[in-house]
Amino acid sequence: MTDDRAILQAVAARRDDLVALTQDLIRIPTLNPPGLNYREICVFLDARLAARGFTTELIRATGAIADSDVHPRWNLLARFDGAGPGPCVHFNSHHDVVEPGHGWTVDPFGGAVKDGRIYGRGACDMKGGLAASIIAAEAFIDTHPGFTGAIEISATADEESGGYGGVAYLAERGYFDPDRVQHVIIPEPLNKDRICLGHRGVWWAEIETHGRIAHGSMPFLGDCAVRHMGAVLEEMEATLFPLLASKRTEMPVVPEGAKQSTLNINAIHGGAPEPDPDYTGLPAPCVPDRCRITIDRRFLIEEDITDVKSEIAAMMERVRARRPGFTYEIRDLFEVQPTMTDREAPVVRSTAAAIERVLARQADFVVSPGTYDQKHIDRIGRLKNCIAYGPGILDLAHQPDEWVGIDDMLDSAKVMALVLEDLLTG
Ligand SMILES: [Zn+2]
Repeated sequence: MTDDRAILQAVAARRDDLVALTQDLIRIPTLNPPGLNYREICVFLDARLAARGFTTELIRATGAIADSDVHPRWNLLARFDGAGPGPCVHFNSHHDVVEPGHGWTVDPFGGAVKDGRIYGRGACDMKGGLAASIIAAEAFIDTHPGFTGAIEISATADEESGGYGGVAYLAERGYFDPDRVQHVIIPEPLNKDRICLGHRGVWWAEIETHGRIAHGSMPFLGDCAVRHMGAVLEEMEATLFPLLASKRTEMPVVPEGAKQSTLNINAIHGGAPEPDPDYTGLPAPCVPDRCRITIDRRFLIEEDITDVKSEIAAMMERVRARRPGFTYEIRDLFEVQPTMTDREAPVVRSTAAAIERVLARQADFVVSPGTYDQKHIDRIGRLKNCIAYGPGILDLAHQPDEWVGIDDMLDSAKVMALVLEDLLTG
């Protein structure tokens, strides 16, 4: 490796700037839902990056899911072209955060600094990572004014709700095409020594069992959809869950429990709807004519989504074979293919070498149990050279008193700066 002391020092010298930038970002409450202050945070980042020579573009995802005049889905894309042609390294962060929830001991949008940590909603997921990538890029540009290629930084909307008004929208318009962008790093909070190569697949579906309404005092005149669903759940316990537990993956998924196929029942509804909290009356006696569950099936790179769906269909058929009058429907809601970047991909090798240089230990390779915006870059953008790498502890995401460590951010920024040096200087 070349003498990288200059760039490491350039990052270290920006510590105060990194803290202040992270605080500024936390103080813009970009709550999703409903999608607040998206334009404000994009304008803020635009001002910062334009002042440092980036060409910037504010892009509204007009017509995307959830985009409206009241809550427009704004994205920022900033690009810095080097002195000559070469590859483009793109840092993509989502700028939206989830609701604070209860249990905070500090102001969730105050950006308080205490004992080497910055607190706030989004501190680790993922405004700390966004700030680290900006500091890394600025430090690199200052120390290597003659670099070749380009650096892009994007701050995108709606990752927390699927990314359709953010990365998916940009990918559909060619922003992540392999002839435009060659390397992508998503600074999600996976820890400063871990490289996340991808994620498991997802299939969400609704299963509905049917019945016939009748008076609750004479259930034999109707047909109870909830009892039919009970039979489905019984069959799941007896055959499906053991089957899923037996399917293990070679993907390095963390935590350990997610190294197999999993299924969650997200919700169950049957019979009379839940009354309003202020309703004080009694329920009416009816035999439920419908019962519905939402399933969340996470699948492995070794599995095919067609098989995943047939497994459920076969289970439903087993129930039907032994229950007179049993009818049902399965409705697809959402699906994402699993993805895993090759360990030998250039951005992976470069980041692993940088982690070793900065932290004096080997990088860990992991795969996420759930999806994130890599899905759109992979599927719509068709770009395979993509990882998630950034500071912060994933378990703190979406929790009260979320924080990010300042030293961790600084170390991650050093790693990102070294990656830029490796990929963009001869
Ligand atoms: Zn995130």
